[in-house]
Amino acid sequence: MSLETVTTIAGLRERLKPARQAGKSVGLVPTMGYLHRGHATLVDHARADTDVVVTSIFVNPLQFGPNEDFARYPRDLDADCRLLAAHGADIVFAPSVEEMYPRPIATHIEVESLSARLEGERRPGHFRGVATVVGKLFNIVQPNRAYFGEKDYQQLQVIRRMVADLSFPLEIVGVPTVRDKDGVALSSRNVYLSPVERAAAPVLSRSLAAAAEAIDGGAVDPLDIEAVIRRALAAEPMAEPDLVAVTAADTLEPVDPKVPPPAIALMIAVRIGRTRLIDQRVVAVP
Ligand code: AMP
Repeated sequence: MSLETVTTIAGLRERLKPARQAGKSVGLVPTMGYLHRGHATLVDHARADTDVVVTSIFVNPLQFGPNEDFARYPRDLDADCRLLAAHGADIVFAPSVEEMYPRPIATHIEVESLSARLEGERRPGHFRGVATVVGKLFNIVQPNRAYFGEKDYQQLQVIRRMVADLSFPLEIVGVPTVRDKDGVALSSRNVYLSPVERAAAPVLSRSLAAAAEAIDGGAVDPLDIEAVIRRALAAEPMAEPDLVAVTAADTLEPVDPKVPPPAIALMIAVRIGRTRLIDQRVVAVP
């Protein structure tokens, strides 16, 4: 089947009806477009697991703060469609903002506490915007499975919690972060980096590797682990840390060194020039 582009909610429902009636499974990969190998890996997983693969491309204004990059977020639907066709996606759902929000939205999904902490504290309203659009996409597509990257680790936990709390009838699949050869997590925002800034970016994954090594060596005190990350980041003068979090991997609660969790999630956000990059790593506690 070749890739089909659908831009309306009604059109997508119509398009999916026969597949659903035939008992076929539907996989959804929600994205904001400007796709790279990380997104393609989510599509590969969906292609392997489900009969009909839908990728949504929607730069969701609800999840951007007033001083964030909504207007300049990179967009290239033609290139995205080529990548999706090459990876065997069936449908790209690319609605306009007017199609998704014909009037200002009055109904939101708020995953309390989880959304307010860490990245949510730095980006007020961000996870509310994410949960709301993802809940809406789940109602539009009604997928059997939806695929999310671990790169946005807190987002993945917010979605998992929303699905459990509101009994959305689908399975959430988390996919490990896809990286460039030098360790930099692939991100649509990497295009903002100048060559000099791009050369500084491996410091994020390097700092997480140093922390993983410390945990492997027996470190469980979050203050010690955070210090390892900050020290590694300090080696790169262009890197300005915005968030360094050491939490229990499943709950994102602070780590209690007296009762260490089975796995620790390391989450960082670092400014390099004008660009804010994030990275994460989950490390089993030995
Ligand atoms: P975005 O278009 O940035 O909103 O991302 C759409 C989906 O792709 C999200 O579930 C992301 O976590 C996932 N994603 C983005 N970058 C990567 C990556 N480098 N590896 C794996 N998944 C990713």
